[in-house]
Amino acid sequence: MRVGIGYDFHRLVPNRKLILGGVEIPHTLGLLGHSDADVLTHAIIDAMLGAAALGDIGSHFPDTDPAYEGINSLILLQKAKAKVENLGYLVQNVDSTIIAQRPKLAPHIPEMRGRLAETLNLSLNEISVKATTSEGIGVVGREEAIAVQAIACLVERRD
Ligand code: MG
Repeated sequence: MRVGIGYDFHRLVPNRKLILGGVEIPHTLGLLGHSDADVLTHAIIDAMLGAAALGDIGSHFPDTDPAYEGINSLILLQKAKAKVENLGYLVQNVDSTIIAQRPKLAPHIPEMRGRLAETLNLSLNEISVKATTSEGIGVVGREEAIAVQAIACLVERRD
């Protein structure tokens, strides 16, 4: 069994979509980034790659590569899953915490878990997404950014 951690942080700006776990969430601000800036999915990718000692998301999907401009991060998650499986591992479970001041994320978490589980071919009880605020303090509290922490557990394939 192997464990990896992931962390990501994106700036919140006007005129961008807010996409978390592949779900578009209605909001006045969105996340800035080269891809769709899905900070949750990025942190999960980094946790999976980290568990396999495969480096980080930036080394596999560089933000200088036009191929990844505006890309749906669930596609990157699928590619990361394939990289991990090529090394002989399977993702067993994922846990994550979104740190965002607004909007209220609880109503959207079931859909995020569904999208992530579907992409990783896992069941819902193997994908955890939690959310908290930063109590109005700091860059997250001022709604300038959203941060995510994630952890992934891999097991050796037995086929
Ligand atoms: Mg990112």
